[in-house]
Amino acid sequence: MGQMATDRATGSAAQRAATDGQAATRIKSYAPATGDLLGDAPNTTPAEVRAMVARARVAQQAWGALPIEERCARVLRFRDAVVDRSDEVIDLLVRECGKPKHEALLHEVAVVADLVTYFAKHAPRILRARDVPLHLMKQRRSTVHYVPRGVVGVISPWNFPFQLPLRDVLTAVIAGNAVVLKPSEVTPLIALKAKEIWDAAGLPEDVFQVATGYGPTGAALIDAGIQFLVFTGGVSTGRRVAAACGERLIPCLMELGGKAPLIVCADADLERAARGAVFGGFSNSGQVCISVERVYAHAEIHDRFVDRVVELTRELRQGDPSRASVDLGAIIFPQQIEIAERHLADAVAKGAVVRCGGRRVDGPGQMFEPTVIAGCDPTMTVMTQEIFGPIVPIMRVASDDEAVRLANDSHLGLNAYVFSGDRDHGERLAERVQAGSVLVNDVLSNAGCPEVPFGGIKQSGFGRAMGDDALRDMCDPKHISVDRVATSRDPLWFPYTDGSYAWFQRGLRALYSGSGLVRRVLDLF
Ligand code: NDP
Repeated sequence: MGQMATDRATGSAAQRAATDGQAATRIKSYAPATGDLLGDAPNTTPAEVRAMVARARVAQQAWGALPIEERCARVLRFRDAVVDRSDEVIDLLVRECGKPKHEALLHEVAVVADLVTYFAKHAPRILRARDVPLHLMKQRRSTVHYVPRGVVGVISPWNFPFQLPLRDVLTAVIAGNAVVLKPSEVTPLIALKAKEIWDAAGLPEDVFQVATGYGPTGAALIDAGIQFLVFTGGVSTGRRVAAACGERLIPCLMELGGKAPLIVCADADLERAARGAVFGGFSNSGQVCISVERVYAHAEIHDRFVDRVVELTRELRQGDPSRASVDLGAIIFPQQIEIAERHLADAVAKGAVVRCGGRRVDGPGQMFEPTVIAGCDPTMTVMTQEIFGPIVPIMRVASDDEAVRLANDSHLGLNAYVFSGDRDHGERLAERVQAGSVLVNDVLSNAGCPEVPFGGIKQSGFGRAMGDDALRDMCDPKHISVDRVATSRDPLWFPYTDGSYAWFQRGLRALYSGSGLVRRVLDLF
């Protein structure tokens, strides 16, 4: 553990060296659950990134010109290969992330397989050119076409190193783009495994490329001539990345941090709410952007709810993530343990009570006990800042209104959860909570729904990663307008005359004031 922390620190030094232009040529990957060195990957230089983007641009021409049905059929070959080789992928995910086998299977591999299946079936409909009837210029016919943007850059984090990048890579390539992916420095091997499977499935090598490296490799990708960037990561890096995109006028999608509140109403099914808090708080050891990060429990049920959450948490089995009967594995990024300890110390100093857990587990490996703290309040950082670790902080509230007010008192707004025995009441509360997605009587599940938009408001980012619009966002909408009737003269063109001015003035009134009779007549056609 100590050795690994030192080696990780060396990684940071390598990042600084890379920034200084004295780039380390390889980055190392360690198993967070054991500390073992797993392998290494290239530290891709800016010149190499530019060359990748140039190759992607060439490959995109042919790929984007294929009929969409053909692109979908080919991407399904990649899905089939992933499923065929799922044991290999799951094994690497378990080793490189220290996440439990179940989660590698369900939250990474299965989510990717399902996303491809959905978009391969529906992309031809979603991206079909559509006629747009013009409400005024009846003499013209307008069509909107969805044209691939070109080369899409994807920069992704370490917590879901298979599902998150492939979600964006695969929607981009189905839409007809080529992609260069910069994965997190902490999990380069799983990204290279995805690339190996892509190539082995016979898909065009330059349509999907992987540039492993540190932050400067990601910065180089933004500067290498891409047409769109999808960034998933923390708020502070996201701010820098969005600024870099802004300078170059590159459109971007930002999927940033979360601080998901879970509201437990007095009428909630307490067993389901407690299990939801435990699963939502400790899945992937809390390293999920939509983890349950703070709980507001109604005073009427607070004590019973907390007791049940503590009982269920004590039953969790933490340890070797390669065993199917383990619930919690390791902390992927060592600094997350220090962040968890800082939040915990602040909460305890301000009066919170640690009801279970609260300590890092002795090595080997980076593990932190699943921790429940009660008696929390909004002065504690654990209730206001992203934890990204296995801590569930709980606060007692007097009413649902207080819960909604506190839930909304945040700079983040990715996911939120409401538990109520009355679905209508739950839905009404959900409408008042400020977040990109709100689930009633459930947690986390929207990350596995490719049909619906996924993303945040406030500083959780902008743009959406799933849903039909995400596929369209991988394209430039192109408007083509064609005349319906041939005329040599257009009354809107030159020459301007007193007569035409008077005519248009009457037209303005007829169309936009009074009874709107003319407008209603036009609407008939
Ligand atoms: P970071 O923001 O630290 O890094 C994200 C990616 O950006 C990494 O690949 C990183 O490379 C790269 N990067 C770092 N500096 C730059 C730069 N200057 N220019 C371009 N790229 C750069 O996030 P983490 O990897 O620590 O991931 C955790 C965060 O991700 C959490 O805040 C979490 O909430 C958020 N997240 C959001 C999700 C969402 O869908 N909204 C989903 C999952 C996570 P390197 O690793 O080499 O530094």
